[in-house]
Amino acid sequence: MFESLSDRLNNTFDRLRGKGKLTEADITSAMRDIRMALLEADVNFKVVKDFVAKTKERCMTADVMESLTPAQNVVKIVLDELTELLGTTESKLVFSNRIPNVIMLVGLQGSGKTTAAVKLAYLLKKQGRSPLLAACDVYRPAAADQLATLGGEIGVPVFRGDGAHPVQIAQDAVREAIDKLRDVVIVDTAGRLQIDEQMMQEAVDIKRAVKPDQVLMVVDAMTGQDIVNVVSTFAERTDFDGVIISKLDGDARGGGALSVRAVTGKPIKFVSMGEKPDSLEPFYPDRMAKRILG
Ligand code: GDP
Repeated sequence: MFESLSDRLNNTFDRLRGKGKLTEADITSAMRDIRMALLEADVNFKVVKDFVAKTKERCMTADVMESLTPAQNVVKIVLDELTELLGTTESKLVFSNRIPNVIMLVGLQGSGKTTAAVKLAYLLKKQGRSPLLAACDVYRPAAADQLATLGGEIGVPVFRGDGAHPVQIAQDAVREAIDKLRDVVIVDTAGRLQIDEQMMQEAVDIKRAVKPDQVLMVVDAMTGQDIVNVVSTFAERTDFDGVIISKLDGDARGGGALSVRAVTGKPIKFVSMGEKPDSLEPFYPDRMAKRILG
């Protein structure tokens, strides 16, 4: 991910470094390159516009233009702004004293919710917690089986409630967790390929019934311009406390990963970098920004 964005940004920086002292025209031309590079990476256009405006304003100051190493300063400003874009707030999960804590995952079908639920369970298990996975995606026939198989592989029980309504399954899973002394319930909900009223209402009903301590939205890193519609509908209906970005290991352009913080205003909590259970990592904005700048 981000290879072509990294290459393009680095070419721009190399051109600046070759110039020594920078003129306003040099900065304007560099900002145009950065804008194109971000748009080509499918970053949301409003996010790109704001990003470039802020970065340009900071680069156009006398401090930068008249310094001995103006190009270095521009790189530093782009790094800062990229880090800011990715979020500077705490990305850790916040647990309440309630037993069990309930974490609910929402997102479109195929975004990687079921995979993320399993990875999160694995991570929490490694941290000494005893999770229970709740299979509330009753529409995709293989979803509960997929969860049961993957849960089995990592040694985390899966509550299926075969045949019951998803709201009932979520409630029964919480009860099961109390009976079996599991301290976190991870609720995997249904998604559709497109936003759909029934799916939204069901997510709202599950949320109302089990009052999750945290709702996390799973967003595919490959999501492009459509990200605004997807996340704003979820934000309005179910709201959420943070984001898990999935499929960051792919070779797609990564627009979703770069837009989601600015579009939602919510912290990115984890990134998912593969299909294996141990490929969920806590998110560090500064590390990601450095990676993008190569
Ligand atoms: P759901 O419909 O939201 O529950 O999505 P799934 O969890 O079933 O994931 C959809 C597809 O994406 C599956 O084939 C997963 O193996 C794959 N997938 C999910 N997360 C990742 C990831 O981080 N990296 C890669 N490469 N594939 C992923």
